[in-house]
Amino acid sequence: MELQERLNDVRSRIAAGERQAARPAGSVQLVAVSKTFEAEAIRPAIDAGQRVFGENRVQESQGKWPMLKAEQPNIVLHLIGPLQSNKAADAVALFDVIETVDREKIARTLAEEMRRQGRRPLLYVQVNTGLEPQKAGITPDDTPAFVTLCREELGLSVEGLMCIPPAEENPGPHFALLAKLALTCGVEKLSMGMSGDYETAIAFGATSVRVGSAIFGAR
Ligand SMILES: *Cc1c(COP(=O)(O)O)cnc(C)c1O
Repeated sequence: MELQERLNDVRSRIAAGERQAARPAGSVQLVAVSKTFEAEAIRPAIDAGQRVFGENRVQESQGKWPMLKAEQPNIVLHLIGPLQSNKAADAVALFDVIETVDREKIARTLAEEMRRQGRRPLLYVQVNTGLEPQKAGITPDDTPAFVTLCREELGLSVEGLMCIPPAEENPGPHFALLAKLALTCGVEKLSMGMSGDYETAIAFGATSVRVGSAIFGAR
């Protein structure tokens, strides 16, 4: 299958998921995850009308997205991978949405960089719903206080929550937990669901799904 066909297939599955969940058409945004793919492999998706992309590494993104954004100014770029403090300035300069705010230190550094650069990417807090020691993210219990700290102490506007459920578990309960936390925190956006489980995530209220291999092929 060509990229365009795979992209259309994902789009129609998202639309079907919206209908099935009695959610408005267009309420779920597709974030096309282009990590590991070069600019030449990404351009066909842009040509097919895709505008929202996700990357997990700052440095890799710097090698391709400034050029692609210059070609197509309406690109919206999401950072979906872990962010180190020493990459915060570059991340604020390049990304439009940073989904992986996961500790106080990085929140403080981002607040400082945003002031310095006068650029304000939207921020999501990553939640470690499975309490996995190797995975980034705030614990569910600590999430409401962390969101409050970001908002009230650091003056950051937190737009959403993001999670990556444990690979070997049924993702449904993790999506449900993230949706519940978003209500508690008064946060509107829910980034959840990947190639294997985005239809489930839509049923649980995802406002964006991060789909890579189903569009670009195996990595
Ligand atoms: C790679 C990645 C995805 C996309 O995964 P696929 O299974 O290829 O759709 C989504 N979210 C995050 C955080 C990722 O790192």
